[in-house]
Amino acid sequence: MKFIADFHLHSKYSRATSSQMDLENLDKWAKIKGIKVLGTGDFTHPEWLKNLKEKLESVEPGLFKLKNLNSETRFILTAEISCIYSKGGKVRKIHILVFVPSFEIVEKINTRLGWIGNLKSDGRPILGLDAKELAKIVLSASEDCLVVPAHLMTPWFSLFGSKSGFDSVEECFEEYSKYIFAGETGLSADPKMLWRMPDGRKITLISNSDAHSARHIGREANVFDTEISYPAIIEAIKSKDPQKFLYTIEFFPEEGKYHYDGHRLCEISLSPTESKKYNGICPNCGRPLTIGVLNRVEQLSDRPEGFKPVASIPFKSLVPLGEIIADALGQMVRTKQVEEEYKNLIEKFDSEFNILLNVSREDLEKVTLPEIAEGITRVREGKVNIEPGFDGVYGKIRIFSKGEQKVVSRQKTLF
Ligand SMILES: [Zn+2]
Ligand SMILES: [Zn+2]
Ligand SMILES: [Zn+2]
Repeated sequence: MKFIADFHLHSKYSRATSSQMDLENLDKWAKIKGIKVLGTGDFTHPEWLKNLKEKLESVEPGLFKLKNLNSETRFILTAEISCIYSKGGKVRKIHILVFVPSFEIVEKINTRLGWIGNLKSDGRPILGLDAKELAKIVLSASEDCLVVPAHLMTPWFSLFGSKSGFDSVEECFEEYSKYIFAGETGLSADPKMLWRMPDGRKITLISNSDAHSARHIGREANVFDTEISYPAIIEAIKSKDPQKFLYTIEFFPEEGKYHYDGHRLCEISLSPTESKKYNGICPNCGRPLTIGVLNRVEQLSDRPEGFKPVASIPFKSLVPLGEIIADALGQMVRTKQVEEEYKNLIEKFDSEFNILLNVSREDLEKVTLPEIAEGITRVREGKVNIEPGFDGVYGKIRIFSKGEQKVVSRQKTLF
């Protein structure tokens, strides 16, 4: 069966997360978005884990649903751990995503991790633990677990990050490298960029939202065609079989927060070529720039831009529907009119992914404004303009140039 999965998000017990991040809301939004399998996130947190155990019941192997609710949404046990440690004379800060097949294995892992640091302080705990040691703990609890370096390229807190990462999987995980089957692209990078790097071609690239609020789930996701169960999902990822793992859904990487180099407070945003001219130093404050994902990929790549390996999972770049509607209406994302149009479209066509991926332009035009149908079509065709994100600032999407929406709308009414 074909289905969409998003494995990485955070509960209300994580820092800077919406208080609405509970199971009921996640279940509700999964339906709106068209997501079948959703990561629980944060299983290391005692309160959240208690919640999960009370409210979820096992359905298929390794997958769970909300009790007393006839819901199609399935939850899979996942958590993210922030490993901060020193190796090779450098401070390393790496986020690792962990997939676990059962509550029993979760308990085993949490016990071990609880000896190392405080799991209560944050849904995404910070541990003074070597990422390789984390892999060892998780995989000795069960070989069915999956250890996945999160948002591979972001400057801080990632395996290949410019600030505190490594240059290869091997350098970080050593003899455990053979158990690193997958890595997460993150919002600021897409598979096309990562295919230029040796490790980006070796591992399977997965995509998740890393959502901190329910309406952001699925902004990146994975599309499978397998049986719906934990073992089948893990097998599809490990085997990198394009018959089972159909494609990933990606942000346009320019929209991510760390695509370009720059300084947020200095309002300086530079392409890698530009920042090279300044020797990586901010022309405003004289301090080193935050080197973004595009630049870092360039440093680690051994293939030219546009290289596509034979064995790879394809991807589609999308823009969240709310942003498309907002741009088509020339408004901000959370205005009343944008929300109403969003609701209207979901009511007609079931889910956001169905609208973004499947519904024909003709059918869209029957129920919504021509400029919105045009916006969705342009996104599908990759016809978008993006001011790239940098140093923690999201990129800005423009599907229409200024005033163009009205022209589209008028043309439609005329003909
Ligand atoms: Zn993270
Ligand atoms: Zn996260
Ligand atoms: Zn600066």
